[in-house]
Amino acid sequence: MSSKDYFVHESSYVDEGAKIGKGTQIWHFCHVMGGAEIGEECRLGQNVFVARGVKLGRNVKVQNNVSLYEGVILEDDVFCGPSCVFTNVKTPRSAFPRNTSADYIVTRVKRGATIGANATVVCGVTIGEWAFVAAGAVVTKDVPPFALVAGVPAKPIGWACMCGVPLRFKDEAATATCSNCNRQYVQRDGRLEMVQ
Ligand SMILES: [Zn+2]
Repeated sequence: MSSKDYFVHESSYVDEGAKIGKGTQIWHFCHVMGGAEIGEECRLGQNVFVARGVKLGRNVKVQNNVSLYEGVILEDDVFCGPSCVFTNVKTPRSAFPRNTSADYIVTRVKRGATIGANATVVCGVTIGEWAFVAAGAVVTKDVPPFALVAGVPAKPIGWACMCGVPLRFKDEAATATCSNCNRQYVQRDGRLEMVQ
């Protein structure tokens, strides 16, 4: 791969063996370890750490001060707000180290999902496609596709459109149309599906 394919600011370290896709930009004071895989057209803001084994899809945006530890998988179009936190061990103890790949628990953020600023995602959860985690939330359970979750611990408070705008369901209606982009949705068995 030609080094012209992507941009790394001179203040950042990209270790031997890291894979970085075309058009990706890695800004100031980042560290990408060998064995990390970053897709095309991604943006890593200032002070982002990407551990070995971490995978980022295409067009993933990671804002300032985010550490992506081994076990974290970010699919295409995921947005990580500034200073959001991931973990990879459920029961960390300094005196009982759990620091091998076998100890790390997978966290998967599926396509298009947003993690708000300063939110914490506890390891082992799956955040569904286009789900929206509000700023400051602490996610301890799986989040369904399109769900909007907030609080500590994070609870569902509504649904977000693919475009990110919260959906309004009139009265007890099962269907809603996005006020921003006119995409239509229907609720079925506690889940949201896009019509069309
Ligand atoms: Zn919309």
